Amino acid sequence: MEISPDTQARKDLISTKFIEIYDNSPEIWVQAPGRVDLMGSHTDYNEGFVLTQAIDRNTWIAARPRKDGRVRICSLNAPGCSEFDLQNLTHDEATPWTNYVRGVADILQQEGYTPLGFDGLVHSTIPFGSGLSSSAALEVATATLFQALGRLQIDPVVIAKMCQRAENEFVGLNCGILDQYSSAMGKAGSVLLLDCRTITHETKPIAPGLQVMICDTRAERALTGSEYPERRAQCELGVRILTGFYPHIKNLRDATLEQLQAHQSDLDPVVFKRCHFIIAENQRVLDVAEALASGDYLEAGRLANESFAGARDLYEIVSQEMIAMQAAIMAAPGALGTRGAGAGFGGCMVAFVESGQEDTFTQYVTRHYQASTGIEPQVYPGVAADGAGILEFYNAPG
Ligand code: ADP
Ligand code: MG
Repeated sequence: MEISPDTQARKDLISTKFIEIYDNSPEIWVQAPGRVDLMGSHTDYNEGFVLTQAIDRNTWIAARPRKDGRVRICSLNAPGCSEFDLQNLTHDEATPWTNYVRGVADILQQEGYTPLGFDGLVHSTIPFGSGLSSSAALEVATATLFQALGRLQIDPVVIAKMCQRAENEFVGLNCGILDQYSSAMGKAGSVLLLDCRTITHETKPIAPGLQVMICDTRAERALTGSEYPERRAQCELGVRILTGFYPHIKNLRDATLEQLQAHQSDLDPVVFKRCHFIIAENQRVLDVAEALASGDYLEAGRLANESFAGARDLYEIVSQEMIAMQAAIMAAPGALGTRGAGAGFGGCMVAFVESGQEDTFTQYVTRHYQASTGIEPQVYPGVAADGAGILEFYNAPG
């Protein structure tokens, strides 16, 4: 594979730092990508659908195997290094980012695998907390590294599930499967229509003529930490009430808008709004996949805008900066539609833009968003990339 100048510069930087820290060179390099969801906000934990793609922003780990069952890990993106014994895994309060790495080791062992020790250095091009899933990329990169070092044969879907468990059980964040699945299963040039009930996907085409753009508000996420579990609890409450009327409803995935509307008076108004959004969003995922495949870009844009309006008015996960970004995007040349990426509450927007208009779009959005917020955004194409894998392994068998 051709190594671009940027890739080479990144490798050189990581190699140099690795030698400074560990006094030796790395022997293995792995990568796991971030992701952007084209449709499907908060549908994953409702056992629904998401249209998602891995992106060409990713997390690398350069590493050198150790024989003593210990892990030393540092990151060029976060302060503090950490060292731990794989036989005696504890939480790290002082260097909390390493809990993503520890959590993956813990779940691998719970599943009967034997992870081997290493010295590792992490480097990522995914901004933290901006809706592109840097945490899953770190987990999936870690799992890919353990898999390579231990010569473990593990299906990538199983990797995704174990990494989700690491985040749920070890880090303590009750996320759905979307992020880890996208990072493990991404395919260059393809979008995945993920079914979060069966945890399988279909690859969907995008007809030529449309470009996915990522528009990062670069605004601090104003989260107290309770918003995400609160939304989940509201969805679960809605399901409990609907199940009383329709026993086959096990999840919002199973409910229709007609059924919800028929029981509006049985539901708390906020719970009603939350359920309304999820049920409609789930249908939008299927609809947008069709629209993108057939080249009906006006419809795809309309669905994105409808998703944004629902996220703002019904699910209430839209920040002021996202509203400013949406205004800049929709006034820009070539814009077809836009919605929030990831869990919302700030971070990135994803826009559908007519091919050929990327540069003028980027300039316009950058200027207008900055004028209205005082924040310089980052706008770039969302290029669909391959899922996690080994980049180089000098002592690999065969
Ligand atoms: P998101 O996954 O949307 O980017 P999260 O809050 O779920 O946001 O995860 C971000 C956290 O993941 C960071 O605060 C950090 O603890 C950890 N993390 C992700 N990537 C790295 C990295 N390259 N180096 C160190 N820590 C990382
Ligand atoms: Mg995350």
